[in-house]
Parts: sequence; structure tokens; C-alpha cells
Amino acid sequence: MKKVLIHPATHDTVRPAVDRAFEIFPINLSGKKVLIKPNALRSSDADEAIVTHPSVLRAVVEKVETLNPAAIIVGDNPGVASYGANEECFEKTGLMEAAKGYYQNIGNDPVTVDFNPAFMASASVSRAIMEADIIISLPRFKTHGLTVLSGAIKNSYGFLCGAQKALLHKVAGNPARFQEVVVDVFKIRVPDLFIMDAVVGMEGNGPSSPDLRDIGLILAADNAVAMDAVVATMMGCDPSCLRFLQKAKEDGLGDYDLTTVNIIGTLEKVKNFKLPPLGGEGVAQNPAIQEMLASKISFRPQVDQSLCTGCGTCVDQCPVSALEIVDVFPEVDADTCITCFCCQELCPEKAIQLG
Ligand code: SF4
Ligand code: SF4
Repeated sequence: MKKVLIHPATHDTVRPAVDRAFEIFPINLSGKKVLIKPNALRSSDADEAIVTHPSVLRAVVEKVETLNPAAIIVGDNPGVASYGANEECFEKTGLMEAAKGYYQNIGNDPVTVDFNPAFMASASVSRAIMEADIIISLPRFKTHGLTVLSGAIKNSYGFLCGAQKALLHKVAGNPARFQEVVVDVFKIRVPDLFIMDAVVGMEGNGPSSPDLRDIGLILAADNAVAMDAVVATMMGCDPSCLRFLQKAKEDGLGDYDLTTVNIIGTLEKVKNFKLPPLGGEGVAQNPAIQEMLASKISFRPQVDQSLCTGCGTCVDQCPVSALEIVDVFPEVDADTCITCFCCQELCPEKAIQLG
């Protein structure tokens, strides 16, 4: 039976929770190359909860140091792919310091691996991911406009180097297919242990929403499907309605049925949790709305001109060049937009909403 640990924690008391995770999920790291992958979506302040909090990364690094690994690498491929962006993200978020000298820009050395030909024949993945003996994934408890939640499975999307993430958004073309692509990326190299930062969670328009919730937990699991099913339940969403969990189960990666999971700790729904648009339980069970979610006419990004600084990040990162700056602010070409919401994820001012 798969297990999920739910352990109380604050940013100052992460280490006991991490120690407990390694007790429940003993893992032999002696002489092994260990890669620790936080969620480093984009350059931001640690307290914005967009990335894994540095206190969680530090606690895991320090625990791993005690277990005699041959090597430790801390790395991720953030959403913005440009020269220096990886280092900038790690520095600004505090993840660089928390990595204690083990940081590596894993985006600089990709290898090509076979992928699902329905989407792309091959994918470009960090060599460090493929060559690690052990991968410890550190997702954050967050919502996501395309996958409802960004948890253990979605954290592996950062295995992809450079423009591959945006390219796959483009190839997927709609949210339902994107949820399937996320699982295919996860399958490239299934991590060995998941430790989730749920001390402060994100609700609403994730994964870069300003709406945060004190949750006060660290979660741990050796199975991503079980962990994400727990997270969905905490968010008030029926896990069986999420396409990426359905696909993960179909592919033999685990089961979202929590009667098959041993929960160690107390599983409680977060009161009045705000799911992203179209993510609610009733919505997820409504075939008409699911069809709309899968269509290209569902939502478009809208720019809040009171927040936008005209920096152009969204324009640079749009995989289909659907945005252009007109005078000061970006405008979207609705016919070209594929509703991937990369622009919303990566806008440093949180100026883009789903509308
Ligand atoms: S919407 Fe955001 S990313 Fe785009 S130009 Fe404005 S501030 Fe920059
Ligand atoms: S405008 Fe935004 S949502 Fe539309 S395709 Fe470009 S990045 Fe994706």
C-alpha cells in the first residue's frame, strides 16, 4: 500500500518533518548521485510562495548530507529560458543559498530522450536528471490554471530544458492534452521521493497567484499519484476528475483512490479553498464544462494595465507569438493564442489574469 505522510511544520520547523519523511520512506543514498529538484518556476521573493521555500530545500539538503551520498546536485529549469535566468531565479528566491553550494545550472547540458510520438518524437531533458541515481522532488502546494493543481507530477515538468516547455504547451494545444503531456514528461524519470512544501499554499489563479493560505504542513510520499490525490482532496477537488491523475493511473503510475493509500497524519480539506477557474468539483464533473476546458475558446489572458510595467517577458515567452506590445502594454491575438498561460505563470508583476 502506498503511503503519504502529512506532518505539521512551519518554515522554522521543517527539519523534524523532513527527518520523519526519511523514517517513513527509508532510502539508501550511500555512494549515490542525488539530485534534489525544487520547484523554481521563476524569479520571485520566497514569501510569494511561487517556488519551493528555501527552508524546505535547506532542510532536505542538510538531511541528504548526513546520508553519505557520492554527490548532491540541486537544480531545476525555471520557466523563463534565457542567459542567466536560472541563476537569477535561484538567487532571488533564496534557493541558491539554501542549496549550500550544490546548485548546478542543469539546463546547460541537455540530452535527447524518446518521447510520446503523439506529441513529439523526442524531448530535451537535463543530463543531470537522466544520470542521477536518486531524484528527490520538492513540489509546492499550489493551484494551476491548466492542471488545477501543481504538485508532485507537475513538478517534473522542469526536467525539460529551455524552450521545450513552451514548445510542448504549443504541441499540446489545449488544457486536457496538456495534462496528458505533463504525465508523459513525469514518466521520463519518475523521482524516488517527494517532499512537498505545504507550509504556505497557493490558491486561486496559480501557479503565480497572489492568494496564499497558511496550511502548516509538509507532505511526503514515494508515489506522486497518491500525493497529488491527497493534495486535490485538501483543495476540495475530486482527484478522479483530474485528467492528469486519470492518465497517470492508466499508465500504471499509481492510484488516486485514497482507500488504497495509507495516510500517516490527518487529512483535512482546507476550508473555503479557492480553486482556479474551471477547477471546482462540480465543474470537474460537468462534461459540458470539461469540453469547454478542452477547447481553444475557453479563456484568454487579460492584462491588468494598472500592474503591467511593459517589461515584455510575456511577449518573449509566448510559444506561438500571440502577444505583442502595442504602445506600452501587451495585447493578445485571440486567434493565435493557444491558452497555455505561460504568460500568466511568468509575468513578474502578476498582471495577467485568466479572463
Ligand atoms: S503583462 Fe507582465 S510580463 Fe507582460 S509586459 Fe506586462 S508586466 Fe511584463
Ligand atoms: S498569449 Fe499567453 S496564453 Fe496565449 S499562447 Fe501566448 S503565452 Fe500562452
